[in-house]
Formats: sequence, C-alpha cells, structure tokens
Amino acid sequence: MTDVDEEVTFIDLEVAALQERETAPDTATLGDLRLEAALSALFAVWAGLLLALSPVDIEHPYLLAFLTVSLAVTARISFPIEGTVAIPTQLLLIPMLMLGPPALAPVLVFAAIITSGFAAAVWQRRSARRLILAGGDSLYCLGPATVFALAGSPGIHASALTILAALSSQILLDAIASWVHERWRSQGESRFPVRPYALVWLVDILLTPIGVIAALATSMSLWAPLGLLPLVGLFALASVERGRRQEEARIQLATVTRERTRLRAAVHRIGDAFASTLDLDALLTITTRAAVEAVDADAARASSTTGIGRKMTHRVTIHENDRNTPLLTAVEERAVNGQSLAHAIVGGIYAMAAPIGDVDAGGVVAVSRNSHEFSVEERQLFRYLCEQASVAARNVARHASLHRQALTDDLTGLANHRRFQELLADGHDRFLETGTRVGLILLDIDDFKMVNDRYGHQVGDHVLRSVATTLRDTCRATDEPARYGGEELAVVVSDADMHECARLAERMRRAIEDSEVVGNSGERIAVTASFGVALMSEVAPDPAALIAAADAALYRAKYQGKNCVRLADDSAGVSTPASTH
Ligand code: GH3
Ligand code: MG
Ligand code: MG
Repeated sequence: MTDVDEEVTFIDLEVAALQERETAPDTATLGDLRLEAALSALFAVWAGLLLALSPVDIEHPYLLAFLTVSLAVTARISFPIEGTVAIPTQLLLIPMLMLGPPALAPVLVFAAIITSGFAAAVWQRRSARRLILAGGDSLYCLGPATVFALAGSPGIHASALTILAALSSQILLDAIASWVHERWRSQGESRFPVRPYALVWLVDILLTPIGVIAALATSMSLWAPLGLLPLVGLFALASVERGRRQEEARIQLATVTRERTRLRAAVHRIGDAFASTLDLDALLTITTRAAVEAVDADAARASSTTGIGRKMTHRVTIHENDRNTPLLTAVEERAVNGQSLAHAIVGGIYAMAAPIGDVDAGGVVAVSRNSHEFSVEERQLFRYLCEQASVAARNVARHASLHRQALTDDLTGLANHRRFQELLADGHDRFLETGTRVGLILLDIDDFKMVNDRYGHQVGDHVLRSVATTLRDTCRATDEPARYGGEELAVVVSDADMHECARLAERMRRAIEDSEVVGNSGERIAVTASFGVALMSEVAPDPAALIAAADAALYRAKYQGKNCVRLADDSAGVSTPASTH
C-alpha cells in the first residue's frame, strides 16, 4: 500500500470512530434496552431497600432541594476526556450525603439526572433516549449512600475513613457498571478502556474535598454550599469552550476526510484512465490535469521527451504566463536531466517537476504555485502520481513498439502486408465517403531470382532492403511504401490522379535503376523493377479490384520488356501508357 492510501485509511478510521461515538446513544438496540432495564431495576431495588431500612429525617429540605437542582444543572456540564466525559456532580453529591439522610441521596441524584435529561430533550432538542440510561447512571451513588447509612448517617461529623470508604465504593460501583456497559457495547470484543475512566474517577477524587468543605461550612452558614456555584459556573465555561474546540476539530476533520475521499476517488479515476490510455500525449494531459487538481497548482505544463538530446516538446500548458514560464522550463529540465523530482523557488513562485516514463519514450510534468510552497505531503502526492503515470507510460511505449512490430516488415522496415491492406481499406473508405481516389503502385524487382542465384540469398536480401530504402526516399511524405510479398513492393498513394501516380512511379523506377547496389566483393549489381499503376475508380472500386488492376499493369510491364511503368486501363480517362522506359 502507498503512503497516500495508508493516510486516507487512517483518517477514515478516526472519523468513523467519531461518528460512531456521536450516534451511539441513538442507536440503542433491544439488547441495550434490556441491559438498561436490568440496571434500573437493580437501582430501584437497592435504593428502595436503603430507604426502607435507614431513617429518613430531612433536616434541611430547602438546602436539599437546592443541591438537587444544582446537581441537575451540573449534570449538563460534560468534560470530554479521552473518549468519555467527566461530569462534576461530585461537588454536590458529597454535601447531599452529609447534609441530608444518605438513603435519600440516590433518589435525589436519579431525580436530578431525569430532570436534566428531560430538560435537554425539550430545550436543546436532544434525543430523549438518554433518559433510559438514568437508572444505570445513578447506580454509582448507591455505594457512598450505603456506606454513609451503614456508618449511622454521621452527617458533617463523618470520619475521614467513612468518606474514603464512600469514595472507594462509588468508584468500585461505577467501574462495575461501566465495565458491564463496555462489554455489552463491544460484545466482549474490545478491552475495557481503563485510562479514560481512571481520569473520570480522578476528577471525582479531586472534587470530593471541595464538597466536604462546602458541607462542613454549613456549621457557620447553612447556605455555604451556595459557594459551590461559581465553581460549577467555571466548569460550565470551560466545558463550553472545550466543546466548541472539539466541534471545530470535528468540522476540520470532516473537511479533511471529504478532501481525502475526493482525492482517493481522483487517484482511482486516474488509475483507471492510466490503465486504459495507450497514447503518451493523452497520458501527459491526464497526469497534468490531475496534478494541478491534487496539489492545487496555479500553472502547469507537460512535455514529451525524445531519447537523443532529451529534446522536449510541449504538449500541454495550463495557465502559463511570462512569470511562471522560465521557472517551469528550468524545473522540467532539471527533472529530465536528473531523472528525479526537482523543485525550485524563484521570485515568490514555487515549482516542481517529475519525469514520466523513460527518457526515450516519456515526458515530464511541471507544476507551479504562486501563493505558498508545496508541502511535503503535496510533493509525495505529486511524486506518487508521476510514478503511476510512469508505469502507464512504459505500457504505452511497449504497446507502441508491439504495434509497430505487428505492422512492420522485419527485412525491409516497410509496412507489412497487414498494414498494406489497412492502408487500402482506409483509402477505400475515403473513396466511398468523399470520392477521393487512392492510387496503387505495385512493383516487382526484375530478374531477382538471378540475383539470388548469382550472389546468394543474403545479397538478395541486401538488394531488397536497398530498393525499399529508395522507395522510401522517393515517395511523398503522405504515401506509405509497403512490402506486398516476396520481392514485390507497393506504394499506396493517397489523394492522387493517374497522371501523378504515373510520374511518381517513373521517379521510383529511375531512382532504383540509378541506385548503387554493391555486392560482397565490391561489384556493382544492376537492379531494376517493373511497375504497374492503378487508381481506385468505378472500374476498380475496392481494394481487391485495385490490386488486380495494378497487378495486370505490372504483368504488362514485365511482358513488354521490364524496367518500365504501365498503367491500368481506367474508364475514368487515362488509359494510355503514360511513361515507359
Ligand atoms: P521477373 O523479372 O519476372 O520478376 O523475374 P524474377 O526472377 O524476379 O521472378 P519472380 O518475381 O517470380 O522472383 C521471385 C524470387 O524472389 C523468388 C525468390 O527466390 C525471391 N525472393 C522472394 N522473397 C525473397 C526474399 O525475401 N529474399 C531473397 N533474397 N529473395 C527473395
Ligand atoms: Mg515476383
Ligand atoms: Mg521479380
């Protein structure tokens, strides 16, 4: 896997976890409901037993009401800590245990949690489903309430040992309830996340002395616990700020993820395009566009390179101007010469370039940006893109070479019979569509058997190659000479009339006659050829008929003394032999 893919997967996982956390309370299953019902039942029975077995004398009803309301408000304050949240209700639970009957505390905590959840559902349009967790969420305070009840409800005279035992039982009970929740949620697959819970318990431990002091201070003033409110307010402020920062981070992460997803889709799309592109220019164009998009470049260019002298030819330019052109030129030259990623900064413009494919069949892509430098990540991405394009460029080169091989005759380097047929078929299409007439010059080397007999087959091959070269040199750039078979060669003449074809054939005949072909021992070998010329017309309306017509003319040339040009009968006009030797 590549760097890019790894990073994308990593970020995706992070966002998936975030989304899961966000949606978790809303996706309670029937199983979850059963667990919550069981925990609530346990809470109800335990709290009921406490109430039944321990005295409930309410000394300060208003104070208790104040603490309950404050706890309901505090229950809305949540501190995100490592994947879970700390709620500073401990501040109020401790005074509640010390100032009222401890057996009543669990009921009051439950009432506060229910009230706060309900208020949130109404005012903040939050899901009311969290209310089903209230029983389980209140379970933790049964521990300290039981300890205080067992200690004989000592109130503010509670010993340090009682308070310590109460705190321990609270943490133990919370740990058990949380462990059950976590096991249930992960179906026993993941380990219990000790660290975040330990942090939550640490917050409870740290807040306990403050709660104790608030309770003790009632001996001086009954309303001393009011002093806790500024602290609660401080927590609220900090948690709002923290929540805001988390939300920002979440939005940022979501943006990055969207970008990554877009990028990954682009890379895959490009991968598919690379795989199906068999043309270097098209490949360079796709790569350049993709690079501009991927690294947010302002301008770009791509050039193809040819092996000798590494000559560069511009193929694509995007937003090039006087300012960025010199830098793009410099950086692409450096990339081609070094055959590696190159980057440069000149006059506040940043540029980088990378070679594509091999020097003899490849190119170079360069991008530039005005605003700021390319980051390490962007460079990596650019390099990755160009490496992928290089693989595709080598495929293009391999394909082009195979294609050439499939259509080229090994001995002469001319078009082979298959290509010859293709050329004629193309000419035929043009003839049908536009009436353009394709001409065919067919030639056969004279007395070639004798050359073979006298000088050997290898010299015969040499003669054949020499005639092929002469043909290539004398025909027009738009015409393509081919080896029809054996020592019969052909030239398909595009868009010509009989007269022009005849002149062309005559020029070839003379060039062959004048060519200096030398044998193994330095002797000059006289080489001539006979020519037959035909034009596609109503008389010869298709490739087969055209070949037959040219062949008949060639036969006449042989019959009438060789080393001459004969034209096929053409009902369209030219019928007399135009040129002879
Ligand atoms: P003509 O003037 O009537 O054409 O006489 P010719 O001897 O050239 O007769 P023809 O065209 O029938 O000759 C074909 C000969 O060309 C037969 C074969 O030995 C030779 N030949 C065909 N292909 C090759 C080749 O690839 N290399 C060599 N050395 N000879 C070839
Ligand atoms: Mg022949
Ligand atoms: Mg011959």
